Amino acid sequence: MSGFNLLHLITKSQPVTLRSCSLPSGARRTKKTWPVNFSQEDLKKRLTPMQYHVTQEQGTESAFTGEFTHHKDEGSYVCVVCGAVLFSSNTKFDSGSGWPSFHDLLKEDSVTLTDDFSYGMHRVETTCSQCGAHLGHLFDDGPKPTGKRYCINSASLGFQPKDAASSSSPASSTSSSAVEGGAAGGSVSEGKTEL
Ligand SMILES: [Zn+2]
Repeated sequence: MSGFNLLHLITKSQPVTLRSCSLPSGARRTKKTWPVNFSQEDLKKRLTPMQYHVTQEQGTESAFTGEFTHHKDEGSYVCVVCGAVLFSSNTKFDSGSGWPSFHDLLKEDSVTLTDDFSYGMHRVETTCSQCGAHLGHLFDDGPKPTGKRYCINSASLGFQPKDAASSSSPASSTSSSAVEGGAAGGSVSEGKTEL
């Protein structure tokens, strides 16, 4: 019966130390990591101060100051940081809040919801699921059928007009008499409007 003890001794010598480095250490950062990352330096160059403040520092633009608050064109609203499509103009409604409001998402998982207890309130923060940009908050007082109100900062959004998304159609519908009148044939500086 003494043979069993030998087996016991042999298994003891297996190396066990290799395991520790193969495990992903997921909880090292307090902040969640996102599929798309940008350097803060890059974002500071690329975004306006307000866009940076809102998306990266969870800021909020003043009510009725955002460029998309009363924006009614047809198209898609995208994340200003990474370009992910977030909302459709079809779900935009006038909430009277002073911020762009939507009653639904374009894609269920395009926005991440997290509890936000800042300012002594409990709100649900909305964040771009791709890059983690702060967008705004979600409330439960929206119109039917969803009953939801995504209250989003204009500074978090970019806009893609519907026309640009579909196959390019030549601008033929406008009246053809608009050509005359431009006497000065000088260089029309294509000044890009900067904010
Ligand atoms: Zn994004």
